[in-house]
Amino acid sequence: MNTDAIPFNKPFRAPGELDNLGEVLASSHVHGDGRFTNAATAKLKQITHAPHALLTTSCTHALELGGLLLELQPGDEVILPSFTFPSPASSVALRGATCVFVDIDDSTGNIDPAAVAEAITEKTKAVVVMHYGGVAADMGPLLDLAAEHCFAIVEDNAHGLGGSWQGRPLGTIGTIGALSFHDTKNVHAGEGGALLLSDDILMMRAEIMREKGTDRARFLRGEVDKYGWQDIGSSYLPSELNAAVLDAQLASFDVIQAGRHRVWDSYARALPAWAQRNGVRQMNVPADREHTAHLFYLRMPTEETRDSFIGHMRQRGIATPFHYVPLGTSPAGSKMGRTPKPCVRSAEFSETVVRLPIWPAMTDDHIARVLDGVTAFVA
Ligand SMILES: *Cc1c(COP(=O)(O)O)cnc(C)c1O
Repeated sequence: MNTDAIPFNKPFRAPGELDNLGEVLASSHVHGDGRFTNAATAKLKQITHAPHALLTTSCTHALELGGLLLELQPGDEVILPSFTFPSPASSVALRGATCVFVDIDDSTGNIDPAAVAEAITEKTKAVVVMHYGGVAADMGPLLDLAAEHCFAIVEDNAHGLGGSWQGRPLGTIGTIGALSFHDTKNVHAGEGGALLLSDDILMMRAEIMREKGTDRARFLRGEVDKYGWQDIGSSYLPSELNAAVLDAQLASFDVIQAGRHRVWDSYARALPAWAQRNGVRQMNVPADREHTAHLFYLRMPTEETRDSFIGHMRQRGIATPFHYVPLGTSPAGSKMGRTPKPCVRSAEFSETVVRLPIWPAMTDDHIARVLDGVTAFVA
């Protein structure tokens, strides 16, 4: 049996990547918004059914662009889950607005609508939802609250390309959706991201803000005869080199997803008896949601068993990392945000979660070795 180390993730290699890159480098259009940007954007719109999509240099930049579009300013409040990646919080703080951190639903790791309801004030401008592991948040009550209190929903959909909630594609349910194409995500361009929008007016403004505050996109379409400075903005567009890789990856989207689901399903089928014996909870996918197999995680009974599990797997050469130090209690979060109630479930999730290796090209031998390692552990 093979005893090579098993990493947590291996970035997917798509057929066609090198040909696409060669084509860009041999052309005179290597900067952004060329043929591969257009092709990748069309594929993204096909997968998500989003009326509008704009490639960006990262999910973080898509979220920053979202903060500009929502005109966040000092005095505004944005509610976020404490258990998430720092980018959405930083995009709020960059606008001088206040982050309000609330707790998660323990069964999915997603923002808890009841905690959101308690944290709403007249200053609430938006709520950030992150679909953890590609499993949708409980969107029904959040959409009701958004309609009642007139705030925007921002979906940090870094994990959820191709996932759905009650048949609706993730990233298109709220006002603004953000995707990541970092090489740890299902589809990647090394670094990259996208902004999804359904509102035409927001799209017109986003297109300008993404291109240094200019109407260059309209100029390129021949709608104006010169372009100039129209609005605030920055340079959020990726080069054609990134778009070339992304386009090849998106062409393999079904292959990537089938590969990841194969691994996910193997874990999900093999582990229930072991999990029950050891007081371990397996990742939960509610029936009205289609997940993306971005993560396969376990919840260990305690922080101590989680840490010894990671050590046990490491001895077998298998990487099983944990993540997300709660934002509410982080150095920046306690300085720039408010946490109305202690986020006990976020802290507990962060202390007990562990993720198993998952990538599309994992072999049956890799999967068997991971499962051998897991089931040899006694909590
Ligand atoms: C990866 C990730 C991001 C950041 O994505 P980048 O493309 O690296 O900026 C944001 N949010 C979540 C939940 C992520 O997992």
